[in-house]
Amino acid sequence: MKRRSFLQLAGVATGGWVTGIGWNYAMGLNELRRLESLLPLTPRMPALFLGHGSPMNAIEDNEFVEGFRRMGASLPHEPAVVLCVSAHWETIGTKVTAMDVPETIHDFGGFPQALYDVQYPVNGHPRFAAALAQDMVTERIETDHTWGLDHGTWSVLRHVYPEANIPVVQLSLDRSMSPQAHWELGRQLGRLRERGVLIVGSGNVVHNLAKVAWSRMHDMDYGYDWARDAADVIRNAILQGDDKALTDAPLSNRAAMKLAIPTFEHYLPLLYVMGARTPGESLQLFNDHAIGGSLYMTSVALGTEG
Ligand code: ZN
Repeated sequence: MKRRSFLQLAGVATGGWVTGIGWNYAMGLNELRRLESLLPLTPRMPALFLGHGSPMNAIEDNEFVEGFRRMGASLPHEPAVVLCVSAHWETIGTKVTAMDVPETIHDFGGFPQALYDVQYPVNGHPRFAAALAQDMVTERIETDHTWGLDHGTWSVLRHVYPEANIPVVQLSLDRSMSPQAHWELGRQLGRLRERGVLIVGSGNVVHNLAKVAWSRMHDMDYGYDWARDAADVIRNAILQGDDKALTDAPLSNRAAMKLAIPTFEHYLPLLYVMGARTPGESLQLFNDHAIGGSLYMTSVALGTEG
């Protein structure tokens, strides 16, 4: 079945969400007309995958938070907008937040009040979101006015940009897309790095909450054998730029990989960032540590060196 047919069927099945959305299949990928008129050419922005781990990283002082801060302080250019793909927003179809001021969403339960008190008062960028929705073609992107910034975005960005002075839009993960399709969308979005857009993916390369050893959450480098095995494979693929291995990983039948990526949502944001990598581009790992046995905080920066 062709993708468009599938989407139309999905529209019927989910109450007609396709209704009223303009299809832009007639436009080529090379025609980012609205985006290019909105955003002037800039030096290529870095791109970041941030392992976000526990929401408490939003308010704790620890090595990971320090890593986010250091990375933020070292970024060479101020972006016009941050486009953040969060593990915590899964939808049918890809959505992009398009409100003037996105709400800080506290999408978790059972944490201290101090975490619920956190606000990340950034502006959105409705014109960018609208242009993105109109110009992107092979994957349909729809503007959204109901979500906001979930903790996948604000728990890390508040350390990267503590002044909350850079507009942020959040991109959802389309549940219907294959890992390869997520990578491909990242590749397409990568062009925006030359238009002042900082692409951020927020998730975790190894993430199995059901198996977390909560008492070991603060023991640096405490990882189960299978978590280490999976992290080694993923790390090597990142370092070698082996995109096939990266898109194959969530589909692997290897026991270690199935435990490391029991559901895809925390892994997929990595594929956006790796898809956005330019050939031969510098790549830096940071926060590359296990915690709680079944989580890896491994984070990736493209284009920040050399
Ligand atoms: Zn998460």
